[in-house]
Amino acid sequence: MWHFFAVKGNILYSKTINELRCIPNGYIVCKSGKVEGVYETLPRDCGDIVIADYGDKLIIPGLIDIHTHAPQYSIRGLGMDLELIDWLNQNTFPEEAKYSDLEYAGRAYTIFAGGLQKSAITRACIFGTIHVEATDLLMDLLEESGLKCMVGKVNMDRNSPEANINLSSGIAPVRTFLDEKIPVGLGTDMAAGSSNSILKAMAGAIQVSKLRWRLADRNLKPLTVEETFYLGTKGGGAFFGKVGSFEEGYDFMRLL
Ligand SMILES: [Zn+2]
Repeated sequence: MWHFFAVKGNILYSKTINELRCIPNGYIVCKSGKVEGVYETLPRDCGDIVIADYGDKLIIPGLIDIHTHAPQYSIRGLGMDLELIDWLNQNTFPEEAKYSDLEYAGRAYTIFAGGLQKSAITRACIFGTIHVEATDLLMDLLEESGLKCMVGKVNMDRNSPEANINLSSGIAPVRTFLDEKIPVGLGTDMAAGSSNSILKAMAGAIQVSKLRWRLADRNLKPLTVEETFYLGTKGGGAFFGKVGSFEEGYDFMRLL
């Protein structure tokens, strides 16, 4: 792995919640896994640096999922005509009970970790089950995948837009949270959410904020693209430290 390198392409990242920075044909210079800076032209002292040129591709920070359930991956999309308690009793609890069987857990968590690895998510907060051996196995599989995840008891801050719709759980007043400076990120909340797409969660956050504004409270203006991109990258990334942006000192994780 290169110690000191640059990537070149069309760069997009959040500086603040209201400011997306776009640098066409720009450079991200990285050292020891951290971002040194983003430039329109390569600085002179980087003359002989290794450059990964991605041409006309878009380069954005890795996406952050701050709430999802690994043992529910196999039941995503099921029972979406039910409300929360019935859905838990009919689908979720019977499925999670199967993780007392380590062989089943191994097969299911291997599929989950593989799916996460292929997704646009680079950091995630993940629920397991009460079964310690199965949860240790999940941690090992995620470690092998190269993804840096938090596994364990995750706060019940469902804030996934799709999960809230599917289980009729209401619409989070995200505009109020932001006005009150409460840290906010986005979650996929599988299996109440149907996929491991934070891009979908960004779109969903805007959609439900429009409904809340239209049907419940005209004082809470809908979320913007700039705001939801921030929530899915730098906002959620703050949970892990300097993660989710290309500003100086941030962990370098990128998507093409
Ligand atoms: Zn959840």
